Amino acid sequence: MLWEAIDGRHGGAIVAVLADGWPTLPLTAQAVMVQRLEGLALVEDDDVHGWRATCTCFWQGEPWTRLHEPGRTDLDRRQASLRPGSPCDPPMPVLQSLHAEWRAHADREVALTELAAARREQEAVERRLERAAAAGRAAGLSWEEIGQATGMRRQSAHQRWRNAAL
Ligand SMILES: [Zn+2]
Repeated sequence: MLWEAIDGRHGGAIVAVLADGWPTLPLTAQAVMVQRLEGLALVEDDDVHGWRATCTCFWQGEPWTRLHEPGRTDLDRRQASLRPGSPCDPPMPVLQSLHAEWRAHADREVALTELAAARREQEAVERRLERAAAAGRAAGLSWEEIGQATGMRRQSAHQRWRNAAL
């Protein structure tokens, strides 16, 4: 199961946490079925020790533990049995919680990326204004004219760009 990618860099998925020392695998019931049909039964039901949310950016959520008693779900302790009839998937409330965990991660990362991008643009605009102000001074513009062109008072333009260089 792959959740929607956000800004092309974050795609979430549930992975099964397997026995200690085994890699986690992006498995769903369908994936296990396909592996079995193709004779690639790498994962047996009992190998699934839990689940976690992951992201294509390599983020991993906290693991959930699989319980072996059927029909139990304890969201507070992050424990649940397999979904009835499924070889490896957790029950729906756990799926929803895993999705919410990944979504919170992705929203946070996208916001941080956007802030950093906006900051870079702001710095580029600042450099452009500095060069333009210096070019204006070199071309004989007054601080009054530079201020008018940039929406500020003469004194403010002077303070801001008096040391600006081309
Ligand atoms: Zn991510």
